[in-house]
Amino acid sequence: MATEESASHGLDPEDWPQARLQAHRMLDDLFDHLEGLRAGPVWRPMPAAVRASFDAPLPLDPSPLEAVHREFLQHVLPYGTGNLHPGFMGWVHGGGNVAGMLGEMLAGGLNANLGGRDHAPIEVERQVLRWVRRIFGFPGTASGLFVTGTSMANFMGLLVARQAALEGEAPGTTQAGLVAYASAAVHGCVPRAMDMAGLGRGALRLVPVDAEGRMRLDALEGALAEDRARGLRPFLVVGTAGTVDTGAVDDLAGLADLAGRHRLWFHVDGAFGALAILAPSLAPLLAGLDRADSLAFDFHKWAQVPYDAGYLLVRDGERHRATFASPAAYLQRETRGLAAGSPWPCDFGPDLSRGFRALKTWFTLKTYGLQQLGTMIEGTCALARRLEARVKAEPRLELMAPVALNIVCFRHRGEDPDALNARIVADLHESGIAAPSTTRLGGNLVIRAAIVNHRTQARDIDALVEAVLGFGR
Ligand SMILES: *Cc1c(COP(=O)(O)O)cnc(C)c1O
Repeated sequence: MATEESASHGLDPEDWPQARLQAHRMLDDLFDHLEGLRAGPVWRPMPAAVRASFDAPLPLDPSPLEAVHREFLQHVLPYGTGNLHPGFMGWVHGGGNVAGMLGEMLAGGLNANLGGRDHAPIEVERQVLRWVRRIFGFPGTASGLFVTGTSMANFMGLLVARQAALEGEAPGTTQAGLVAYASAAVHGCVPRAMDMAGLGRGALRLVPVDAEGRMRLDALEGALAEDRARGLRPFLVVGTAGTVDTGAVDDLAGLADLAGRHRLWFHVDGAFGALAILAPSLAPLLAGLDRADSLAFDFHKWAQVPYDAGYLLVRDGERHRATFASPAAYLQRETRGLAAGSPWPCDFGPDLSRGFRALKTWFTLKTYGLQQLGTMIEGTCALARRLEARVKAEPRLELMAPVALNIVCFRHRGEDPDALNARIVADLHESGIAAPSTTRLGGNLVIRAAIVNHRTQARDIDALVEAVLGFGR
């Protein structure tokens, strides 16, 4: 029996069997939703009344869990981004997966704090690190950490690179004059990382790309020589494995050579593209990735792990630790008891409290296996080639960039093509048939279909083409 005290203050259910029933119902409802995805629209606009329902008074009094869940079913579930749906092709979103979802539920139940201390969840994260090293050909001394996403991982990689640059300098040397390099197609989070690091985006040189969208190494050499001649201190080159606009992969081996010659830190933004390494037919595109000093990538994109699950891998684990570790009396390490097991994850990044992102990733990788994930990734690229072929075969459509991986940029021909294609994409979204996004290439607004979702099939590609042609009429 509950004591008077626990009954008045505790949050556990008073009626466990009833709570258990409700929990099963909630899981069943979600399975119904997942099983029936294809029958519904990709996305639907949220009615004003639904939006207004989120502007309710403070919940001072309790509500039955059942009632809160009913509100979720009515107001939240139907109005998602649509990234679970096979017709979703916008913005390089992952589609999620059932094993990962259940792993996330278990993680919520465990309520583990992965900042540190000696417990099994930390061993799960360490096991994923050992796998990540193996997958990317990094040494056993490499360190790694789950973070929110590649935006954060790129920022942290930059901080480790700066640490490395300043380490060899005389004490008191400042970061003044440090400059970094990336391709003009680099993701916007890298210039922002320069700002956040206090280096400023002005200290990031955007190197022109070739016709395939890859950083021009001759132009990079030129920029380095110019900066050196001006007395600046080049310290970092960021290669991209899978640009966000077109999926282009920089010449990573060439960049590794160049970084070695110029003594630059070689960081790779492999947000979605790095995991192409799991597909035997695509892995050669990533040659040289195993020579990076650090790599940022996301499990929540191509590997379909539920959001969020970004990752930073650093070749020199000691330098990584030196960038972030800080002493604090309340984080005292011991050799015995719960405070053992140092170094802790919190020594490798800015977060102290950390969720159990490793568990949904562990469930996903173990349940499907790396080979099946590689086959799924290959499949999305095959669908991109199907779309590319259909665009090329259709006189009213025009391919706007080479297809390197799984991203197809195209547009409908016509007068004022920017306005026409923007309208077509909005019509597509509102029709619920397919959801590509738009981007700008060479000043042109284009339709961008990023085939990331494991549920997307050939019929979804065909439906997209038919709908674009239909709305273009
Ligand atoms: C998605 C993406 C990012 C940002 O990653 P988040 O996980 O959204 O923070 C960075 N770079 C590239 C190339 C991306 O595709």
